[in-house]
Amino acid sequence: MTPQIRPDLDAIPAYIPGRSRPGAVKLASNETTVGPLPAAAKAIAEAAELANRYPDNQVTELRTALADFLGVGFANVAVGCGSVALCQELVQITCAAPTDEVLFAWRSFEAYPIVTKVGNATAVQVPLTADLVHDLEALAAAVTERTKLIFVCNPNNPTGTAVGKAALIRFLDAVPPHVLVVLDEAYYEYLRLSPDDRPDGVELGRTRPNVVVLRTFSKAYGLAGLRVGYAVGDPAVITALLKVHIPFSVNQVAQAAAIASLEARHELLDRTDLLVTERERVRDVLVAAGYQVPPSEANFVWLPLGERSAEYGEAGAEAGVLVRPYGTDGVRVTIGDPHENELFLGFATDPAVLTRFLG
Ligand code: PMP
Repeated sequence: MTPQIRPDLDAIPAYIPGRSRPGAVKLASNETTVGPLPAAAKAIAEAAELANRYPDNQVTELRTALADFLGVGFANVAVGCGSVALCQELVQITCAAPTDEVLFAWRSFEAYPIVTKVGNATAVQVPLTADLVHDLEALAAAVTERTKLIFVCNPNNPTGTAVGKAALIRFLDAVPPHVLVVLDEAYYEYLRLSPDDRPDGVELGRTRPNVVVLRTFSKAYGLAGLRVGYAVGDPAVITALLKVHIPFSVNQVAQAAAIASLEARHELLDRTDLLVTERERVRDVLVAAGYQVPPSEANFVWLPLGERSAEYGEAGAEAGVLVRPYGTDGVRVTIGDPHENELFLGFATDPAVLTRFLG
């Protein structure tokens, strides 16, 4: 006899990571292409020597460094095994019954429906606008007395679109203060909106206890393989996150690498300028070739290819470029090194490909 497992788990979609294949260029997981900085590599090696010891479960040193960096208190910062773990923990601290609702735009980060179901809550999805941007008015209007949590992914994965500060403030003002709003800023470092309109969740959250911000070391900081993300919010939210946190799930190597990378942030953040230059170049070439590409504020671009998305992904793989198709909505292409982007553009603008997918 097999043990009893929650039957509703069958309905949870699998998280499908971007493919890798030896010899192929991987533009499928929004990773950075460069390995850890020497200082981070040294910290990693040193911390690995202590692998016989449990890590600091309070993540004290990293939380202190993050609090200093962000200008917030130690009690305002929680660290998770990647920000995706924090997404799940945020559902766990807000939702206690299957009727509790988690609200988010769609299409957005594919983990949101998964963590909602894992948390035994109900997902409510609000379509993006025709321009593939968050429809913040519709999102605010979808709040009911059952809504416990709202995810706003800004810039949005996988469309790359971002909402500006003024629109975000209007939205936050419209949401009842007892509903927790998660501003998922995994791609924050790639935003290049004008300083006046640049949305900074940490700033917006200073006066709003119902706002929690998620950021990660996986993207601009280049530590995707070590799994470190963080949440910034009201001490009550942070305390609750610490309660549901899986003990020791942020390991010592990850903590040490994150501290070293935070100290070397200027070098890492400078690299985002190169990426943004490449992002604009890739988008310009694609648009000139006839693709519709929404303006991106992240480290990827989105091609809304509809029904042809999966086929496009296969054709890319055959040409040696792994991109990420999403159902029948579109294909997300990570911006890589210039030679990788060239390989992708060579495929994407091949006349045969253009005829097949845009014709
Ligand atoms: N949020 C968004 C919007 C993401 O795209 C990702 C990674 N794909 C994450 C959170 C999770 O990142 P990590 O767990 O690596 O910190």
